[in-house]
Amino acid sequence: MTSLLPYSNHQQKLSLVKSGTLSLKDNVRYFLDRITKERELNCYLSTFDEEALERASSIQKKIIEGKAGKAAGMVIAVKDVLSIQGKEMTASSKILKGFVPLYTATAIQRLIDEDAIIIGKTNCDEFAMGSSNENSAFGPVLNPIDKTRVPGGSSGGSAVAVAAGLCDVAIGTDTGGSIRQPAAFCGVIGLKPTYSRVSRYGLSAFASSFDTIGPFASNVYDAALVMEIISGHDSSDATSSTADVPEFSANLSTQHSPLKIGIPKEYFNEALNSEIRNKVSELVTFLKRNGHTVVDIELPMTEYAISVYYVLTTAEASSNLARYDGARYGFRSESASSLTDMYINSRSEGFGDEVKRRIVLGTYVLSSGYYDAYYTKAQKIRRLIKNDFENAFAKVDLVMTPTTPTTAFRLGEKSSNPLEMYLSDIYTTGANLAGIPGISLPLGTDSADLPVGIQFLADQFCEENLLKFSNFVVQNFNQ
Ligand code: GLN
Repeated sequence: MTSLLPYSNHQQKLSLVKSGTLSLKDNVRYFLDRITKERELNCYLSTFDEEALERASSIQKKIIEGKAGKAAGMVIAVKDVLSIQGKEMTASSKILKGFVPLYTATAIQRLIDEDAIIIGKTNCDEFAMGSSNENSAFGPVLNPIDKTRVPGGSSGGSAVAVAAGLCDVAIGTDTGGSIRQPAAFCGVIGLKPTYSRVSRYGLSAFASSFDTIGPFASNVYDAALVMEIISGHDSSDATSSTADVPEFSANLSTQHSPLKIGIPKEYFNEALNSEIRNKVSELVTFLKRNGHTVVDIELPMTEYAISVYYVLTTAEASSNLARYDGARYGFRSESASSLTDMYINSRSEGFGDEVKRRIVLGTYVLSSGYYDAYYTKAQKIRRLIKNDFENAFAKVDLVMTPTTPTTAFRLGEKSSNPLEMYLSDIYTTGANLAGIPGISLPLGTDSADLPVGIQFLADQFCEENLLKFSNFVVQNFNQ
């Protein structure tokens, strides 16, 4: 979608504000007006109009005085699974009704500390479980490119907020593809960091050993800048990494020294749409012409990824979602006459179908008698999937795959068939099982004008390489 904004990344925005050409307050007003106009897309669940406008004024002053933070004036939308102090958080579920967090998620606090402006919370699949955004208690989000189609999920609202020009950057979460898949469906950039790169403090947990937080952006610079701000150790999340965080946004050149790029043959199966296959071939030709080496690699355990993902994530979810019992958070059933009934009825009425399906499945795979057959076995295969990627990165710098097997599907097309819905994640779950970073970049459109996404995967903590290479591809590949 063509943007009417007078800047194409945050660097330009800052210099326009500094030179007095752009008023941040007008800029926030512009976004708020557009959000109202595009209400039909249903991508925002709430907006913080007054606060955003006030911050725009004070941050404008700070910028002019030279005292502003790195993200000064960047207008950011936040997926509604991340807490912000004093703002209702729903996780797109009825069960959290009225829940107002007492603290702000670390990733969001870091953006606020760098003077970003949080404009609102975005719609998503309930507790981030889904691939189409149709599992939200607040209705589906529409794809702005074709409103009869889904935006992808689970971070569909965040992807749409960027694609429709309703913010500068949006924050999403990716447990099995929920940043990369909607980015691909909506034609924007989506980055899933290395597991543990970004603190999960303040994120409502879905599958704790998979959950990651990352940005959606319209350009690589903004994604890189947000990534460097939200990354890094946090004493409130013991699993967050102490690894150094490079300044990802510095030195994003339009050129790139030759790399070796691996194409996993297992990803080019019959599920892959032929137009997407052709787009990938065009990119391969371009990369070779620019001095890069493209080689075939093998990720032999790929066929097990979806099954392993759904055993392990449902197991973790069944445990994580036990806390929503009607006693502690949000919604409580009115129709209970005993404590047990209160638990049962609150959960039965508060959770949607997909969440219930996963709690039941996860409880089953963890039950004694089945634990070893499903959970333990899946853990072992997870290790083998990780080994596949380790072997690959011993030979190549990056792995390149389509992000999704198809372009955005129609609303309702897969909602009656969960298995088919799960298969839309076949190319993305591997990165979460292995804990590695991945990015989806827009690769033009197919013959129906629907966006196609290309995914690059890197070894753990190699986001810098991923971002630099992405910048080269986005700047030079002629779509
Ligand atoms: N679509 C996947 C699922 O439903 C991924 C979700 C996610 O990454 N949050 O589990």
